[in-house]
Amino acid sequence: GYYRRGGRTPLYLFELSQCLLDFVVQLLPSKEEVSVKEDVRKLLERLIKTIEPSAQLLSFGSTANGFELKNSDMDLCCLLDLRTDPLPSASQFVLRAAQLLEKETKFAVKPLPNARIPIIKLSLQPSPSIPFGIACDIGYENRLALENTRLLFTYAAIDPTRVRTLVLFLKLWSKRRKINSPYHGTLSSYGYVLLIIFFLVHVKDPPVLPNLQQMPPMRPISPSDTQINGRNVWFFDDVDLLRRKWQSPNTDTIGELLLDFFRYYSREFNYTTTVASIRAGHLPKELDPTKPIDPREGTSLWIEDPFETSFNVGRCVTRDGLYTIRGEFMRAMRILTTKHETAMASLASLCE
Ligand code: ATP
Ligand code: MG
Repeated sequence: GYYRRGGRTPLYLFELSQCLLDFVVQLLPSKEEVSVKEDVRKLLERLIKTIEPSAQLLSFGSTANGFELKNSDMDLCCLLDLRTDPLPSASQFVLRAAQLLEKETKFAVKPLPNARIPIIKLSLQPSPSIPFGIACDIGYENRLALENTRLLFTYAAIDPTRVRTLVLFLKLWSKRRKINSPYHGTLSSYGYVLLIIFFLVHVKDPPVLPNLQQMPPMRPISPSDTQINGRNVWFFDDVDLLRRKWQSPNTDTIGELLLDFFRYYSREFNYTTTVASIRAGHLPKELDPTKPIDPREGTSLWIEDPFETSFNVGRCVTRDGLYTIRGEFMRAMRILTTKHETAMASLASLCE
């Protein structure tokens, strides 16, 4: 295999896997951090109920999908009973709730009522009791985000050791290498996680993970039960059954998968012609030649959202951004296949 050519032996890959496991343990939030965040969620929920009694405040993103790093932001979503009359619009909700939180809490509050997805940004500076500070976004009625969080959670639960280790390591790596910033033309954590799952479902042969959106359901499902905002959000979500019944035919170690991930996205994935779709595999890009390309939107990297299939999660990635990201994939390959004293030294230099 390639690692022999690169002077890499199975022993090195074994050592690399052990180091990855040790490495990510240090990245996890403490029990205290997890409980402080849960207390904050409850407090905010209690306050919001004073203006909307049916409100529920639910976690999504990394605090709920199993891929949380230390000090990561909290993503919260407010759901109301849809029979609420009148049901406030997202921007009305954001303005009213922001006013309330400004008055009743110590958070710095910033409402963004006119964003594509209106949110309230909250932050608390670090203090002795909260050494990591808190940053939190509250959105409204974002039911698709709750579902894609559940999808990622389920993928993580099927093979927690390999999937979580890879994802946590790659998230940290992308943050340290400064290629995890949609505002600066690179990719969100969500985008990287989708690339990893795509790789484990559709690139690895035999696959490490099944395609949860294409597995046959255990009992008939009616389309109306699985639609949110006109999107089909069905996937096989019986974690217990999956754990008991789905045995991956792929036995690659975490170290092999990591190397292979970098190799695939630095050399093999065809960015010009291909859409990465967890739902449907490798899809051809269909650029509409009659439509001008919106210069604000990157067309370089196409990652189909699992449910909002008309939506490119990589749309923020500019040409320069993609160039930088691919450069980082190549750098990572080079570091992992050239000589270091120890595998731990390779990982450290990878995340410098
Ligand atoms: P981090 O620890 O870096 O915050 P995260 O797992 O919370 O990582 P984010 O990129 O912050 O990942 O995304 C949080 C959630 O927001 C995702 O689980 C997803 O539901 C939603 N989301 C983020 N970006 C997009 C996007 N481009 N399209 C659709 N949903 C998105
Ligand atoms: Mg987040």
